[in-house]
Amino acid sequence: MLIVMKPQASEEDIRRVCQRIEALGYRAHAMPGAQRTAIGITGNKGPLEPEEFESLAGVAEAIPVSKPYKLVSREVKNEDSQVRVGPAEGGVTIGGRQLAIIAGPCAVESREQALAAAEHVRKAGARLFRAGAFKPRTSPYSFQGMGEEGLKILAEVRRQFGLFIVTETIDPENCDLVEEYADVLQVGARNMQNFSLLKRVGRSKKPVLLKRGMSATLEEFLMAAEYVLSEGNYNVILCERGVRTFADHTRNTLDLSVIPAVKLLSHLPIIVDPSHGTGKRDKVIPLARAAIAVGADGLIVEVHPEPERALSDGYQSLYPEQFESLMEQVTAIAGVLGRTVEGKRKEVGSRK
Ligand code: PEP
Ligand code: MN
Repeated sequence: MLIVMKPQASEEDIRRVCQRIEALGYRAHAMPGAQRTAIGITGNKGPLEPEEFESLAGVAEAIPVSKPYKLVSREVKNEDSQVRVGPAEGGVTIGGRQLAIIAGPCAVESREQALAAAEHVRKAGARLFRAGAFKPRTSPYSFQGMGEEGLKILAEVRRQFGLFIVTETIDPENCDLVEEYADVLQVGARNMQNFSLLKRVGRSKKPVLLKRGMSATLEEFLMAAEYVLSEGNYNVILCERGVRTFADHTRNTLDLSVIPAVKLLSHLPIIVDPSHGTGKRDKVIPLARAAIAVGADGLIVEVHPEPERALSDGYQSLYPEQFESLMEQVTAIAGVLGRTVEGKRKEVGSRK
């Protein structure tokens, strides 16, 4: 059920409706919009009576939500959500007119490697830095990440370069530590349906980057996001990172058609990972261009100062010069769409 408030409803009206919902044993999710506030109700087992709420002050109407996912749906909130990373002043917004570019190595491997990567990507215009300190690897014998030491290096990257840190949390217990250091909590493809992790990050104050599982349908993807929102964390950024198909010329098949499909159904921002999406360095820039053209709100790209020496995903990591070129190309395409690239000083285009 969705309660749509009148445009002139007061804060007090909204608070009373929320209290009423909570008194009935459900959860209220107030979603302020440009024109009016909507209040989503979750936790009810069966359908609710609209009359129960329509008589309350400030309520315009109470409408049932037809989709299985509710809080992520455009039925509940029509305007695009913007997720704020970092402080209100000097932070980055994901989901607006500006594209967010997240770049960095697959994993933190050493202080030198992380700082070198950060210097390159910052110089090229990125505002957000990616690197895993905890790596979910297919083999238990592969490099698993530097753990807390890696997180400390990431904190140094933030201090030195003013980059915001996007890093992966691999389970609910691990989240306690990662959220102390991260600006954005990454939930990896293999964990898209780790429901206890989704609930845990849903209780965090930090934004969440949720990667699509490698065999997840659109509905499963949105339901995973719904887990996070249903716990009260509305700052979710979706990420398409390729799905598994029979194609063997790439590591995964980057499903760019999911971008407009998500945009139709959900108000959440969605970015694209052309690195894991293709698994091959030579395909990263072309797919990055395509991702922006198709309407993605940003990119997450693997960049390594010396890809041939990388401990993970070197074959898909860009050389720093290639990342500079990616930024130039993406900025040009953004201009055609009336968008700009966060961090790039040169503004291209002015529509939207
Ligand atoms: C990563 O970002 O390095 C990663 C492990 O990604 P994914 O979860 O998409 O495989
Ligand atoms: Mn990787």
